[in-house]
Amino acid sequence: MSLYVIGHKNPDTDSVAAAIGYAELLKRRGKDAVPLIAGEINKGTKLVLEKFGIEKPALAHMIDFPEASVVLVDHNEAGQWADNLVKEHVTELIDHHRFGDFSSAMPIYVRTQPVGSTSSIITKMYQECEEVPEKRVAGLMLSAILTDTLMFRSPTTTDFDRDMAKYLNEIAVIDMMKHAGEVFAAKSDISDMPLIDVINKDFKEFHFNDHAKVGIAVFETVDATGPLARKDEFVTELAKVKQSNKLDYLLFAIVDIVKQVANFIILSEKEQELLEHVFCGKVVDGVMSIEGLVSRKKQMVPPLEEHFANHDEKHC
Ligand code: MN
Ligand code: MN
Repeated sequence: MSLYVIGHKNPDTDSVAAAIGYAELLKRRGKDAVPLIAGEINKGTKLVLEKFGIEKPALAHMIDFPEASVVLVDHNEAGQWADNLVKEHVTELIDHHRFGDFSSAMPIYVRTQPVGSTSSIITKMYQECEEVPEKRVAGLMLSAILTDTLMFRSPTTTDFDRDMAKYLNEIAVIDMMKHAGEVFAAKSDISDMPLIDVINKDFKEFHFNDHAKVGIAVFETVDATGPLARKDEFVTELAKVKQSNKLDYLLFAIVDIVKQVANFIILSEKEQELLEHVFCGKVVDGVMSIEGLVSRKKQMVPPLEEHFANHDEKHC
Protein backbone atom coordinates (compact mmCIF):
# COMPACT_ATOMS: atom_id res chain seq x y z
CA MET A 1 0.00 0.00 0.00
CA SER A 2 1.22 3.47 -0.83
CA LEU A 3 1.93 6.04 1.86
CA TYR A 4 1.02 9.58 0.82
CA VAL A 5 2.99 12.46 2.31
CA ILE A 6 1.00 15.69 2.20
CA GLY A 7 1.55 19.30 3.28
CA HIS A 8 -1.08 21.94 4.00
CA LYS A 9 -3.55 23.69 1.71
CA ASN A 10 -2.19 26.77 -0.06
CA PRO A 11 1.22 25.12 -0.01
CA ASP A 12 4.45 27.00 0.71
CA THR A 13 7.94 25.76 -0.09
CA ASP A 14 8.29 24.03 3.29
CA SER A 15 5.15 21.94 2.92
CA VAL A 16 6.24 20.83 -0.58
CA ALA A 17 9.88 20.22 0.39
CA ALA A 18 8.97 18.33 3.58
CA ALA A 19 6.59 16.09 1.60
CA ILE A 20 9.18 15.33 -1.09
CA GLY A 21 12.08 15.02 1.36
CA TYR A 22 10.21 12.70 3.71
CA ALA A 23 8.80 10.57 0.88
CA GLU A 24 12.38 10.07 -0.38
CA LEU A 25 13.50 9.00 3.10
CA LEU A 26 10.56 6.58 3.43
CA LYS A 27 11.47 5.06 0.07
CA ARG A 28 14.99 4.38 1.35
CA ARG A 29 13.33 2.55 4.25
CA GLY A 30 11.51 0.31 1.74
CA LYS A 31 8.16 2.09 1.75
CA ASP A 32 6.16 2.94 -1.35
CA ALA A 33 5.87 6.65 -0.53
CA VAL A 34 4.34 9.37 -2.73
CA PRO A 35 4.56 13.12 -2.06
CA LEU A 36 1.44 15.16 -2.83
CA ILE A 37 0.44 18.84 -2.75
CA ALA A 38 -2.87 20.14 -1.35
CA GLY A 39 -3.16 22.98 -3.88
CA GLU A 40 -1.22 24.87 -6.54
CA ILE A 41 2.32 25.95 -5.62
CA ASN A 42 3.49 29.59 -5.44
CA LYS A 43 6.05 31.19 -7.76
CA GLY A 44 8.85 30.88 -5.21
CA THR A 45 8.32 27.13 -4.89
CA LYS A 46 8.09 26.82 -8.68
CA LEU A 47 11.49 28.50 -9.04
CA VAL A 48 12.98 26.16 -6.43
CA LEU A 49 11.62 22.97 -8.05
CA GLU A 50 12.88 24.07 -11.48
CA LYS A 51 16.29 25.09 -10.17
CA PHE A 52 16.88 21.72 -8.51
CA GLY A 53 15.25 19.68 -11.29
CA ILE A 54 12.45 18.23 -9.19
CA GLU A 55 9.06 17.36 -10.58
CA LYS A 56 6.02 19.02 -9.05
CA PRO A 57 4.06 16.49 -6.93
CA ALA A 58 0.53 15.49 -7.93
CA LEU A 59 -2.51 17.08 -6.31
CA ALA A 60 -3.95 15.38 -3.22
CA HIS A 61 -7.54 15.74 -4.36
CA MET A 62 -6.88 13.34 -7.26
CA ILE A 63 -6.31 10.45 -4.84
CA ASP A 64 -8.77 8.08 -3.23
CA PHE A 65 -7.02 7.42 0.09
CA PRO A 66 -7.23 4.08 1.85
CA GLU A 67 -7.32 4.13 5.67
CA ALA A 68 -4.01 4.79 7.45
CA SER A 69 -2.18 5.89 4.32
CA VAL A 70 -1.41 9.55 4.93
CA VAL A 71 1.51 11.33 6.55
CA LEU A 72 0.75 14.98 7.36
CA VAL A 73 3.73 17.30 7.19
CA ASP A 74 3.99 21.00 8.08
CA HIS A 75 0.47 21.24 9.54
CA ASN A 76 -1.94 19.51 11.88
CA GLU A 77 -5.14 21.60 12.14
CA ALA A 78 -8.11 20.20 10.26
CA GLY A 79 -8.87 23.59 8.63
CA GLN A 80 -5.58 23.26 6.75
CA TRP A 81 -5.88 19.64 5.59
CA ALA A 82 -6.36 18.68 1.97
CA ASP A 83 -10.12 18.71 1.35
CA ASN A 84 -10.54 14.97 0.83
CA LEU A 85 -8.78 13.89 4.06
CA VAL A 86 -10.42 12.49 7.17
CA LYS A 87 -8.70 11.41 10.36
CA GLU A 88 -8.97 7.68 9.55
CA HIS A 89 -6.44 8.35 6.77
CA VAL A 90 -3.75 9.84 8.99
CA THR A 91 -1.04 7.52 10.19
CA GLU A 92 1.83 9.90 10.91
CA LEU A 93 2.39 13.60 11.58
CA ILE A 94 5.55 15.73 11.41
CA ASP A 95 5.19 19.42 12.13
CA HIS A 96 6.45 22.63 13.74
CA HIS A 97 3.18 24.51 14.40
CA ARG A 98 1.03 24.85 17.48
CA PHE A 99 -1.20 21.86 18.15
CA GLY A 100 -4.67 22.97 17.11
CA ASP A 101 -7.69 20.72 16.96
CA PHE A 102 -5.80 17.62 15.83
CA SER A 103 -7.06 14.21 16.84
CA SER A 104 -6.50 10.82 15.26
CA ALA A 105 -8.58 7.70 14.80
CA MET A 106 -5.77 5.27 15.65
CA PRO A 107 -2.54 5.55 17.65
CA ILE A 108 -0.13 7.28 15.30
CA TYR A 109 3.48 8.44 15.12
CA VAL A 110 3.74 12.15 15.92
CA ARG A 111 6.83 14.32 15.84
CA THR A 112 6.67 18.06 16.36
CA GLN A 113 9.48 20.39 17.31
CA PRO A 114 9.28 24.14 17.94
CA VAL A 115 11.78 25.00 15.20
CA GLY A 116 11.79 27.18 12.09
CA SER A 117 10.76 24.66 9.46
CA THR A 118 9.48 21.11 9.02
CA SER A 119 12.31 20.54 6.55
CA SER A 120 14.79 21.03 9.42
CA ILE A 121 13.08 18.16 11.26
CA ILE A 122 13.10 15.94 8.15
CA THR A 123 16.81 16.68 7.65
CA LYS A 124 17.46 15.55 11.23
CA MET A 125 15.50 12.36 10.51
CA TYR A 126 17.84 11.60 7.59
CA GLN A 127 20.77 11.94 9.98
CA GLU A 128 19.10 9.73 12.57
CA CYS A 129 18.58 7.07 9.88
CA GLU A 130 22.19 7.52 8.70
CA GLU A 131 20.97 8.49 5.26
CA VAL A 132 22.28 11.39 3.19
CA PRO A 133 19.77 13.30 1.03
CA GLU A 134 20.52 13.58 -2.68
CA LYS A 135 21.92 16.93 -3.81
CA ARG A 136 18.64 18.08 -5.42
CA VAL A 137 16.57 17.14 -2.34
CA ALA A 138 19.13 18.83 -0.09
CA GLY A 139 18.76 22.01 -2.19
CA LEU A 140 14.99 21.79 -1.93
CA MET A 141 14.91 21.31 1.84
CA LEU A 142 17.51 24.05 2.28
CA SER A 143 15.27 26.41 0.29
CA ALA A 144 12.40 25.54 2.63
CA ILE A 145 14.44 26.34 5.75
CA LEU A 146 15.55 29.66 4.21
CA THR A 147 12.02 30.71 3.23
CA ASP A 148 10.23 29.52 6.39
CA THR A 149 12.77 31.32 8.59
CA LEU A 150 12.84 34.44 6.35
CA MET A 151 16.56 33.87 5.79
CA PHE A 152 17.10 33.16 9.53
CA ARG A 153 15.55 36.51 10.52
CA SER A 154 12.16 35.27 11.72
CA PRO A 155 11.83 34.86 15.51
CA THR A 156 10.93 31.21 14.78
CA THR A 157 14.56 30.54 13.78
CA THR A 158 16.60 28.30 16.08
CA ASP A 159 20.21 27.08 16.10
CA PHE A 160 18.81 23.73 15.04
CA ASP A 161 17.63 25.31 11.76
CA ARG A 162 21.02 26.96 11.21
CA ASP A 163 22.79 23.63 11.84
CA MET A 164 20.50 21.71 9.49
CA ALA A 165 20.85 24.39 6.78
CA LYS A 166 24.64 24.29 7.10
CA TYR A 167 24.59 20.51 6.79
CA LEU A 168 22.31 20.62 3.72
CA ASN A 169 24.51 23.20 2.05
CA GLU A 170 27.52 20.91 2.41
CA ILE A 171 25.57 18.76 -0.08
CA ALA A 172 23.73 21.39 -2.15
CA VAL A 173 26.60 23.92 -2.28
CA ILE A 174 24.72 27.11 -3.18
CA ASP A 175 25.01 30.79 -2.26
CA MET A 176 22.23 30.59 0.34
CA MET A 177 21.38 34.26 0.72
CA LYS A 178 21.51 35.00 -3.02
CA HIS A 179 19.28 32.00 -3.70
CA ALA A 180 16.79 32.93 -0.97
CA GLY A 181 16.67 36.50 -2.32
CA GLU A 182 15.73 35.14 -5.76
CA VAL A 183 13.01 32.93 -4.30
CA PHE A 184 11.47 35.81 -2.34
CA ALA A 185 11.65 38.09 -5.37
CA ALA A 186 9.79 35.46 -7.45
CA LYS A 187 7.21 35.06 -4.68
CA SER A 188 6.74 38.85 -4.46
CA ASP A 189 5.87 39.19 -8.15
CA ILE A 190 2.08 39.54 -8.29
CA SER A 191 1.96 41.52 -11.53
CA ASP A 192 0.00 38.82 -13.38
CA MET A 193 -2.05 37.54 -10.42
CA PRO A 194 -5.64 38.38 -9.50
CA LEU A 195 -5.56 39.88 -5.98
CA ILE A 196 -7.85 37.18 -4.64
CA ASP A 197 -5.12 34.66 -5.49
CA VAL A 198 -2.57 36.77 -3.61
CA ILE A 199 -4.80 36.54 -0.53
CA ASN A 200 -5.47 32.82 -0.93
CA LYS A 201 -1.87 31.83 -1.69
CA ASP A 202 -0.87 31.86 1.98
CA PHE A 203 -4.21 31.69 3.75
CA LYS A 204 -4.79 29.61 6.87
CA GLU A 205 -7.92 29.08 8.87
CA PHE A 206 -7.90 28.81 12.66
CA HIS A 207 -10.62 27.84 15.10
CA PHE A 208 -9.93 29.62 18.36
CA ASN A 209 -11.49 28.33 21.55
CA ASP A 210 -14.17 26.54 19.49
CA HIS A 211 -16.10 29.72 18.81
CA ALA A 212 -14.13 31.98 16.52
CA LYS A 213 -13.36 31.08 12.94
CA VAL A 214 -10.45 33.31 11.99
CA GLY A 215 -8.69 33.42 8.64
CA ILE A 216 -5.16 34.78 8.59
CA ALA A 217 -3.72 35.49 5.17
CA VAL A 218 -0.13 36.61 4.81
CA PHE A 219 1.65 37.93 1.77
CA GLU A 220 5.42 38.04 2.22
CA THR A 221 7.16 40.47 -0.08
CA VAL A 222 10.52 42.16 -0.50
CA ASP A 223 8.73 45.50 -1.05
CA ALA A 224 5.28 46.30 0.34
CA THR A 225 4.87 49.64 -1.45
CA GLY A 226 3.24 48.35 -4.64
CA PRO A 227 0.74 46.01 -2.95
CA LEU A 228 -0.15 48.65 -0.32
CA ALA A 229 -1.05 51.09 -3.08
CA ARG A 230 -3.75 48.59 -4.11
CA LYS A 231 -5.27 48.56 -0.62
CA ASP A 232 -8.84 49.34 -1.71
CA GLU A 233 -8.83 46.56 -4.31
CA PHE A 234 -7.61 44.15 -1.60
CA VAL A 235 -10.48 45.17 0.68
CA THR A 236 -13.01 44.27 -2.02
CA GLU A 237 -11.44 40.84 -2.48
CA LEU A 238 -11.06 40.27 1.28
CA ALA A 239 -14.80 40.74 1.72
CA LYS A 240 -15.40 37.94 -0.80
CA VAL A 241 -12.91 35.59 0.86
CA LYS A 242 -14.44 36.24 4.30
CA GLN A 243 -17.90 35.51 3.03
CA SER A 244 -17.09 32.40 0.99
CA ASN A 245 -15.17 30.84 3.91
CA LYS A 246 -17.87 31.88 6.42
CA LEU A 247 -15.27 33.49 8.67
CA ASP A 248 -15.89 35.55 11.79
CA TYR A 249 -12.74 37.54 11.09
CA LEU A 250 -10.33 37.79 8.21
CA LEU A 251 -6.91 39.27 8.87
CA PHE A 252 -4.60 40.03 5.96
CA ALA A 253 -1.01 41.13 6.46
CA ILE A 254 1.39 42.29 3.78
CA VAL A 255 4.67 41.40 5.45
CA ASP A 256 7.71 43.33 4.27
CA ILE A 257 10.48 40.84 4.98
CA VAL A 258 13.22 43.39 4.28
CA LYS A 259 11.90 46.07 6.62
CA GLN A 260 10.44 43.42 8.96
CA VAL A 261 7.03 45.04 9.21
CA ALA A 262 3.52 43.55 9.05
CA ASN A 263 1.01 45.84 7.32
CA PHE A 264 -2.54 44.70 8.10
CA ILE A 265 -5.13 45.84 5.59
CA ILE A 266 -8.28 46.52 7.58
CA LEU A 267 -11.36 44.83 6.13
CA SER A 268 -13.98 46.20 8.52
CA GLU A 269 -14.50 47.71 11.96
CA LYS A 270 -14.63 44.23 13.43
CA GLU A 271 -11.12 43.38 12.26
CA GLN A 272 -9.89 46.81 13.32
CA GLU A 273 -11.16 46.33 16.88
CA LEU A 274 -9.60 42.90 17.09
CA LEU A 275 -6.23 44.06 15.77
CA GLU A 276 -6.18 47.14 18.01
CA HIS A 277 -6.92 45.00 21.00
CA VAL A 278 -4.43 42.25 20.24
CA PHE A 279 -1.52 44.12 18.65
CA CYS A 280 -2.01 47.61 20.13
CA GLY A 281 -1.34 49.31 16.79
CA LYS A 282 -2.84 52.43 15.25
CA VAL A 283 -4.78 52.34 12.01
CA VAL A 284 -3.66 54.97 9.55
CA ASP A 285 -5.60 55.25 6.30
CA GLY A 286 -6.98 51.70 6.58
CA VAL A 287 -3.65 50.05 7.38
CA MET A 288 -2.12 48.99 10.68
CA SER A 289 1.66 48.59 10.51
CA ILE A 290 3.43 46.71 13.27
CA GLU A 291 7.21 46.73 13.32
CA GLY A 292 9.03 43.48 14.01
CA LEU A 293 5.92 41.37 13.42
CA VAL A 294 6.70 38.79 10.73
CA SER A 295 5.68 35.34 11.95
CA ARG A 296 2.07 34.16 11.87
CA LYS A 297 2.76 31.04 13.94
CA LYS A 298 4.82 32.70 16.63
CA GLN A 299 3.64 36.31 16.76
CA MET A 300 0.08 36.39 15.40
CA VAL A 301 -1.59 33.13 16.41
CA PRO A 302 -0.57 32.96 20.13
CA PRO A 303 -1.95 36.41 21.15
CA LEU A 304 -5.13 35.73 19.16
CA GLU A 305 -5.53 32.38 20.87
CA GLU A 306 -5.04 34.12 24.21
CA HIS A 307 -7.59 36.77 23.28
CA PHE A 308 -10.31 34.30 22.30
CA ALA A 309 -9.66 32.20 25.39
CA ASN A 310 -10.93 35.30 27.22
CA HIS A 311 -8.22 35.60 29.72
CA ASP A 312 -6.39 38.60 28.43
CA GLU A 313 -6.94 42.16 29.45
CA LYS A 314 -6.45 45.09 27.20
CA HIS A 315 -2.85 46.06 27.76
CA CYS A 316 -2.40 48.89 25.27
MN1 MN B 1 4.03 25.85 5.74
MN1 MN C 1 6.75 25.20 7.77
